[in-house]
Amino acid sequence: MKAMMLEEVGKLALIELEKPVPLGDELLVRVEACGICGTDRHLYLGEFPSRPPVTLGHEFAGIVEAVGRDVKGFTPGMRITGDPNIACGRCPQCHRGRVNLCHNLQAIGIHRNGGFAEYVIVPQKQAFELPLSLDPMHGAFCEPLACCLHGVDLTDIKPGSSAVVIGGGVIGLLVVQLARLAGATTVILITRNEAKRRLAETLGATATVDPSSGDAVAKIAGIDGILPGGADVVFECAGLKETVEQAPRLTGRGGVTIILGVLPSGLKTEIEPFDLLFREIRMVASFLNPFTHKRAAQLIASGTIVVEPLISRRIGLGEAAEAIAHPAGSGEIRTLVAPGL
Ligand code: NAP
Ligand code: ZN
Repeated sequence: MKAMMLEEVGKLALIELEKPVPLGDELLVRVEACGICGTDRHLYLGEFPSRPPVTLGHEFAGIVEAVGRDVKGFTPGMRITGDPNIACGRCPQCHRGRVNLCHNLQAIGIHRNGGFAEYVIVPQKQAFELPLSLDPMHGAFCEPLACCLHGVDLTDIKPGSSAVVIGGGVIGLLVVQLARLAGATTVILITRNEAKRRLAETLGATATVDPSSGDAVAKIAGIDGILPGGADVVFECAGLKETVEQAPRLTGRGGVTIILGVLPSGLKTEIEPFDLLFREIRMVASFLNPFTHKRAAQLIASGTIVVEPLISRRIGLGEAAEAIAHPAGSGEIRTLVAPGL
């Protein structure tokens, strides 16, 4: 089979690999679609630890082709989405139910061969069924949506709450939809790209703000702003120093700032503890997708969360290396790799 491998940091290659055989509790899945995520680029650049040589790709959906002898409940022909993050189940964090913080966490597409290939091996506990009627491209959004669900779960958004989302990439545009679904009646997205702002308005944002045309904090949380004093919940989904610094300033008294964005390791930001204290702002980090993948699959399968307009490009395996190695353009949201293309 063909697989797009990270052979070493800085070197991606489309190579021929032996088609894997599912053992024990494993499924052999024919990949239909796999999303390219910022993490793939970090892995390529060596900014994130991985275990090369390894096939990248952790946002995948596909059809079960064969199953190991211990598999129950999955049969060839079923469509699945894979939760790539495999917790050990035995360490202190797993025992506390904090599986995303597992000391022995391994990810498909980072530590084991992933979805930028014709086939991928998925342990059955990591697989969730998707309907055959679903566009498989949409199935590739379950993993990022599951991460966003965890972020929303860490808040106490209620019907009538207000939210600000910073960054109109896939994560921000999914969080906008989840915040509305959770009941927020005001959801403001801050992002620079005009097309993304227009799209967000069709996906449920009640207002959008361009951070490059004036002070977004004043426009939103200022006395004459859209939400004077700030929002109940702010989601940082841009992963930049300036937006992390902005996030608590957009958060209202007693509110919560959720940090979803990944900043380069070692980078420091300036936060004002006095302000956090006197307005009792909680800053909470949200990492991965503990127990949220199945709900993400249900939200995608039911069409409750809309992902079609988030697809910028569909490419074949042969073009994947180029797409990972080069940063996406500002208007681009998600590129999907389909081995069949
Ligand atoms: P992305 O496409 O890079 O989205 C970030 C967006 O931020 C960009 O599209 C950009 O859009 C916008 N932006 C840039 N400067 C801005 C500014 N000054 N103010 C407001 N928006 C700005 O990435 P993504 O896939 O959506 O992921 C977002 C972040 O979440 C990344 O850091 C990613 O690593 C992280 N992530 C975290 C988890 C987790 O478990 N916590 C899971 C997945 C991803 P414009 O050009 O329109 O400004
Ligand atoms: Zn563990």
